[in-house]
This record gives sequence, C-alpha cells and structure tokens, in this order.
Amino acid sequence: MKKLVSILVPCYNEEASLPHLWSELQKIMTDDYDWEVLFVNDGSKDRTLQILNELYHADPRVSVVDLSRNYGKEKAMLAGFDHVAGDCMVIIDADLQDPPRLIKEMLQKWEEGYDDVYAHRISRGKESWLKKKFSLLFYKILQKGSSLYIPENVGDFRLLDRKCIEALKELRESERYTKGLFCQIGFKKIGIDFDRDDRVAGTTKWNFRKLFFLAVDGIVSFSNFPLRISTLLGSIAALVSLVLGGFYLIKAAIFGDPVGGFPTLIVVILFLGGVQLLSIGIIGEYVGRIFIESKHRPVYYINSYKSHISKDSE
Ligand code: UDP
Ligand code: MG
Repeated sequence: MKKLVSILVPCYNEEASLPHLWSELQKIMTDDYDWEVLFVNDGSKDRTLQILNELYHADPRVSVVDLSRNYGKEKAMLAGFDHVAGDCMVIIDADLQDPPRLIKEMLQKWEEGYDDVYAHRISRGKESWLKKKFSLLFYKILQKGSSLYIPENVGDFRLLDRKCIEALKELRESERYTKGLFCQIGFKKIGIDFDRDDRVAGTTKWNFRKLFFLAVDGIVSFSNFPLRISTLLGSIAALVSLVLGGFYLIKAAIFGDPVGGFPTLIVVILFLGGVQLLSIGIIGEYVGRIFIESKHRPVYYINSYKSHISKDSE
C-alpha cells in the first residue's frame, strides 16, 4: 500500500490562481504516493466553488469542503485538518506563494522520520516595507512574552504527520493562531529554507487591520506579557504618585497652599487616565477571549463535503 499524502488548500476568492495551482500540483503528484488534494472553500464570492467542483468531477484525487460562509484562513485550516484523509498533510496557499516544488523535499524529511517539516522563508516576495517591519516587531513581542519558541518567517506552509493532525484537531479554540499551535503541539520538527514568490494572480486578502488583529490574537493567546506590562506601568505610576504626593504635602505644609499648579494637575490626570485606559484595554482583550471561548461554539459550519476517498480504507 502506498502512503496517502493530503494537500490542504484554503481558498478565498481564488478563481484566478486555482488553474495555475492545479497545474503545478499535478507536476509534483508522482506515482510513489497516493494523493488527495483537499480544497476548503472559505465562503468565496467569485467562481472558486464552481472551479473546485469541476476539478472534483475531473479528478478522483480532489476533495472539496465548502464552508457555510467566510471564516478566515485560520478556521478554514481547522476545517481542513478535520477532513484530510492522508497519512500526512501539506498545507499550502492557493496563490502559489508557497512553491509546490518544496513538497518533494518535505516528503523526504518526513520519510527520514520528522513529523513537522516547516518551510522557512529567507525572502518574503513583494510586500510593503511597513508590513515587513511590523511583522518583525510582532515576532519580537511574541518571543518576549511566550514560553514557546515560535520561529519567525515561518508561515503555515508545512508538512505534518498524522500524529500532528490528530493533535491539532483537539485544539478547538475559536480565536486561532495556528502558527503558535504548531509549536504548542511539539513533535519532531525541522525547517527547510525557501524564497517566497510573489502572488501568481489575484490580490492578498490581508489588509492592515486584519493583520493587526491576527498579531493581537497571536500575542494574547500565547502570552501573559501584555498583562505584565499593565502591572508594571501601574506600579511605576503608583510609585511616582506616592513620591509626588509626599512632595506636595510637605510643600503645602511648609509654604502654604497658593492656588496654582493647574498644568501639573492636567498632565498627571491625562497620564494616569492613559495608563488606566491602556490597562483596561489589555485586560479587555483577555476577558473578551474568555467570553468567546466560554460559549464553546463550533468553530465553523460546513455546507458540503465531497471526497472520492473512503476514510475506512485508511
Ligand atoms: N484565505 C482563506 N480565507 C480568508 C483569507 C485567505 O482561506 O479569509 C486563503 C487564501 O485563499 C490563500 C491563503 O489563505 O490560499 C493565504 O491568503 P493570502 O494569499 O491572501 O495571504 P498572504 O499570502 O498575503 O499572507
Ligand atoms: Mg498569499
């Protein structure tokens, strides 16, 4: 029996990239393995689903999960983890920014006994200067605050053994930061280097706002560091007010209390107000997360799941 390799492709409005991706994938799907290509349609508004259905009817290796709406890549990936049939799985973007040629190398490492072969990008393709800078800053903060080592410049493009897939399926939090979860589960990891290509067609679905909140998700779900910052700021503010308070008390006792000092008052009030709002915001991020997770809602709903591969033959 040949081993079954699943390729997981989350797709959101990828009608332009899919034909390119499919022709590239066909090149690497050689006879030494059985293959499954599982596309997760994440509520696309263009012809993506039609194209996927055509592929499904044309090729028995294609499986399609159609989600009930757009959930975002992180949740679309979980839907993929739940449905892949393979002995291992490769997660890949639909836009060919993750070159399929690397899959061969990943499989070699897998055969050598590694469970998680991640692609480490040594360049990031065409991205704005600001995006690169922010991404670096984000990784720094994450590293400082988390007890896990989450490598920088590593995306979701990786091969995972069945063991890892089963582990990931158990992590069902709905505010997901999958890059961190890969580290959370452990197992034997190795990286391989590559140059990230530019998108073959279509445009990126991430805008600054989405990336900012993904970064917040990443930091808040993997560390208590921000809470520490507010504790630290609070302590400093308290210490300063104690000293300042003592000073004014003594000053008033010795020199009396002529009205004045209005600017000082305003500055102190504004500063303390700022510190308090920031701290409340940080606490709010964590409380919000508790609120969302405590509802235990399913992470996604599916509209349909089609596959030619019967899971009993695993
Ligand atoms: N994607 C998705 N749901 C979304 C946004 C993106 O499934 O809501 C998919 C998208 O189709 C692509 C992958 O996630 O296959 C990466 O998206 P994109 O190329 O826009 O991100 P970038 O490469 O710019 O980080
Ligand atoms: Mg991309």
